[in-house]
Amino acid sequence: MYLYNSLTHKKELFVPNNPDMVKMYTCGPTVYHYAHIGNLRTYIMEDVLEKALRYAGYNVKRVMNITDVGHLASDADSGEDKMLKGAKRENKSVMEIAKYYTDAFFADCEKLNIKKPDVVEPATGCIDEYIHMVQTLIAKGSAYVAGGNVYFDTSTLNQYYVFNDHDEEDLAIGVREGVEEDTNKKNKNDFVLWFTKSKFEDQALKWDSPWGVGYPGWHIECSCISMKHLGENLDIHAGGIDNAFPHHTNEIAQSESFLGHKWCNYWFHVHHLNTDTGKMSKSKGEFLTVSLLENKGYDPMAYRLFCLQSHYRRNLVFSWENLDNAVVAYDKLIAKIAALKDEGEVDAAALDALKERFLTALNGDLNTSLAVTAVYDVLKAKCSDATKLAALADFDRVLSLNLLPAAQKLKEKEAAEAAASADPEIDALVMQRTEAKKAKNFQEADRIRDELKARGIEIIDTPQGTKWRKA
Ligand code: AMP
Ligand code: ZN
Repeated sequence: MYLYNSLTHKKELFVPNNPDMVKMYTCGPTVYHYAHIGNLRTYIMEDVLEKALRYAGYNVKRVMNITDVGHLASDADSGEDKMLKGAKRENKSVMEIAKYYTDAFFADCEKLNIKKPDVVEPATGCIDEYIHMVQTLIAKGSAYVAGGNVYFDTSTLNQYYVFNDHDEEDLAIGVREGVEEDTNKKNKNDFVLWFTKSKFEDQALKWDSPWGVGYPGWHIECSCISMKHLGENLDIHAGGIDNAFPHHTNEIAQSESFLGHKWCNYWFHVHHLNTDTGKMSKSKGEFLTVSLLENKGYDPMAYRLFCLQSHYRRNLVFSWENLDNAVVAYDKLIAKIAALKDEGEVDAAALDALKERFLTALNGDLNTSLAVTAVYDVLKAKCSDATKLAALADFDRVLSLNLLPAAQKLKEKEAAEAAASADPEIDALVMQRTEAKKAKNFQEADRIRDELKARGIEIIDTPQGTKWRKA
């Protein structure tokens, strides 16, 4: 499989450290609010990546954190802790907020057929690991204590901006915007590994540490949780593009300084879902959730298809019109699948050819829109319906669009509707009228028609015969 690697800025052949097991880490949600459908775009595409790797024959162990502590609204200690902000907003404790929104996140994932990672670890579960990493970094001279906090010293690195060739000053502006300079820092990019002195003295969750009672910085959780479950060598680290800097940049800095060697080989970044008016953001208050889509009558599968129709490295613009187009496409697709007959033999050679096209799409840097096209190719293929159904079931291991179950449901719905509108008595009267007409007994034919009319039934004579409907 070829994947674009943000670290090298090019598409590379994916080669895991150990061919028996791909180790994949995903930055999880900050559980202070519902996930918006932009966040979920990232999780859908990461889900497809994991499933595509499995489809290609790899075993995958995937780990995800849940950020339930330490994610400041800005990296530079300039903003409130997001969790605390959520707790205040809802008059609940931080742990209550974390539990509620973690459950809500996985409920949304389930609706979108996003598989739960093999390991899910809340940031509050690994305090000992953070303390150990911070102690080691201090011992190695990569971190220092200043003003009660522990900072990572970015001047000890050979290279800090690993993901892009941007001008350092340009990148730093984003971090410093509206932020008072933290005078404890030796270098402007240094970041906090452990807080004991923050401007936010009401931080709810605190733990004892060698530097005093405090709490971890945001970045350290991903390094430690990943190493706890996946060891010292990671194959793929995934996240939204906004995480590349500073979050992932800082993860690499601290992890590689801690380990003394390269940590992760492939960095997979999903670009953003934006609205036509700009960035989708939880902190803006009003944002789109899966529940909101459902309340408006949208099937979450239509949203999944909408995401799959575009490449993960392109920004995607959400509009209701675009989503409506995805609904039409999804409904048409399901209707076509429902029209297939579960009969005939599976043609192994034809099935292999269809699968090959699908795999080629995935192997080309996860080209999901081409993979969706491969679904239409199945429907157009000159092979038995049994072969087509087998191919669709196979592709859905990755696409997870409920292709066959939704088609089955549609068939059952149509059968139930037909049964509900069936009426043998009316059928019999219609038949009698046809017989009367044939026998040129027009008086009787008209009498029956009038009787049906009085019962609210309209007769329609068509070239295929006489039909009726409730007027
Ligand atoms: P958060 O809950 O804010 O920590 O974000 C969860 C995930 O969603 C991270 O991987 C983010 O990079 C990603 N993300 C945030 N905003 C967007 C967006 N508008 N579109 C796609 N992914 C996003
Ligand atoms: Zn992370």
